[in-house]
Amino acid sequence: MKVDLHTHTDRSDGTLSPTGLLEYLRDQGVEVASITDHDTLAAYNDRLDMQGLTLIPGVEFSANVGTTGVHIVGLGVEPNGAAMRTASERQQSARARRADAIALALEKVAGTGLRAAASDLAGGRVPGRPHFAQALVEQGLVKNSQQAFKRYLGKGKRGHVATDWPDMRTVNGWIREAGGVSVLAHPARYRLNRNKLLRLVREFCEVGGEAIEVISGKQDPATTRQLAEIAESHKLLASKGSDFHSPTQTWLKPGRLPPLPSMCVPVWEHLPLS
Ligand code: AMP
Ligand code: MN
Ligand code: MN
Ligand code: MN
Repeated sequence: MKVDLHTHTDRSDGTLSPTGLLEYLRDQGVEVASITDHDTLAAYNDRLDMQGLTLIPGVEFSANVGTTGVHIVGLGVEPNGAAMRTASERQQSARARRADAIALALEKVAGTGLRAAASDLAGGRVPGRPHFAQALVEQGLVKNSQQAFKRYLGKGKRGHVATDWPDMRTVNGWIREAGGVSVLAHPARYRLNRNKLLRLVREFCEVGGEAIEVISGKQDPATTRQLAEIAESHKLLASKGSDFHSPTQTWLKPGRLPPLPSMCVPVWEHLPLS
């Protein structure tokens, strides 16, 4: 079965509308999917019926573990209930404050128009860092988004501002309250050494985390094996997702994700698929 449980739309930093994304996934042969926008469930306000594609309501929350920013995906959540509403409102106000702070921090290099330019690129919603990156590209300050992160928005750079994201316990509480399963997103992307990664996973388990992404986007097989072993030894369910943002990411096709290693217990077997 083709499964992709981590994707983005233009309700956060993806480029396709929710319906456009589902059409794209269907055309790629994906049978079970989740839209997991950053800190918002706005996509689920749209009518999202797509023949042949089972959609699991989801979200990707930002959290802090000490000074490390991590992402936690909630799958199978009730998108319109009180828990997700409270959570997304809290996260969106943190995002709005952060956007102001990024614009201020970059005012000397990018001028006063950066916040408005980034908002425009976000379709009037609160801009995330990729929108700031794109705005910096359009100003000619950098040649691409990658460079914008490297020079201005990444950790340790002028435009990287501390954000009061909640801790993992809080986020897992929100997800549980909404009836969902919490998934530690893209564990290999935090650039932690093995000991630190294991410590993060243990802490995630201690605060009620239930699953990890064993496959995230384009990932080398050795990493997949390592994450599968971590999932097994910590009795975590396994998820997989492309972290799709745009069809221009040609190296990353949602329909082409490899299967989970056989030792894994797939998280979707523990979710109601209606
Ligand atoms: P935000 O949630 O606003 O902090 O933005 C995080 C998003 O920025 C991630 O989900 C990616 O889509 C994107 N991103 C993070 N790091 C990079 C990078 N080095 N180059 C390009 N995009 C990045
Ligand atoms: Mn993103
Ligand atoms: Mn993420
Ligand atoms: Mn993501």
